[in-house]
Amino acid sequence: MSFKSLGLSDALLKAVSKQGYTTPSPIQQKAIPLILEGKDVLASAQTGTGKTAGFTLPLLQLLSQGQTLRKRPVRALVLTPTRELAAQVYQNVKQYSTYLDIRSTVIFGGVNQNPQVATLRNGVDVLVATPGRLLDLHNQRLLSLANIEILVLDEADRMLDMGFLRDIKKIMAVMPAKRQNLLFSATFSKDIKALANDILNHPVMVEA
Ligand code: AMP
Repeated sequence: MSFKSLGLSDALLKAVSKQGYTTPSPIQQKAIPLILEGKDVLASAQTGTGKTAGFTLPLLQLLSQGQTLRKRPVRALVLTPTRELAAQVYQNVKQYSTYLDIRSTVIFGGVNQNPQVATLRNGVDVLVATPGRLLDLHNQRLLSLANIEILVLDEADRMLDMGFLRDIKKIMAVMPAKRQNLLFSATFSKDIKALANDILNHPVMVEA
């Protein structure tokens, strides 16, 4: 199994090989083709399985195939529970989009919002964010989620453990109903299943 056989574009294959990856991990082999098909995916995956590339690579491909709007509104949103994870996912997004015309940024709480707002104003295709700061900027009307095409909930179980359910629901309410949803979680409690039920549309389940 190769990354090429999963249907990834040359620009992404080049970025993958620059990282030194030769073989897609099991979660990547399963998730990438489904995401490229536009399916909603419910993925059971721990950290260290290569899950980040598993959603980031196809997400970047879908965005780069789509239309770039003049003002570059955010078209893909990745929600993470912590700023550390947000920063890490953002590094991945940046690395994998090296050869694409895709702009990305990361926002999280605990730091001055002004630099984040300035970057958003310049236009961003992919936004990685923690729920609290995202809602905060949205409430201040400094950010629009009206053009979201793809939503990723990364480490959804940890987001619920940290009490982000209400924030996640508020974020859902200001996004277009028609979008692709990807939910990654290490565990599947009753609460996660309920959230998945709420958010995902005829999801396909994959396991690492
Ligand atoms: P993650 O589970 O997304 O946190 O990824 C764990 C680590 O595996 C990261 O350091 C990635 O850079 C690395 N990685 C992801 N995919 C592959 C792959 N196909 N081959 C080798 N390393 C990978």
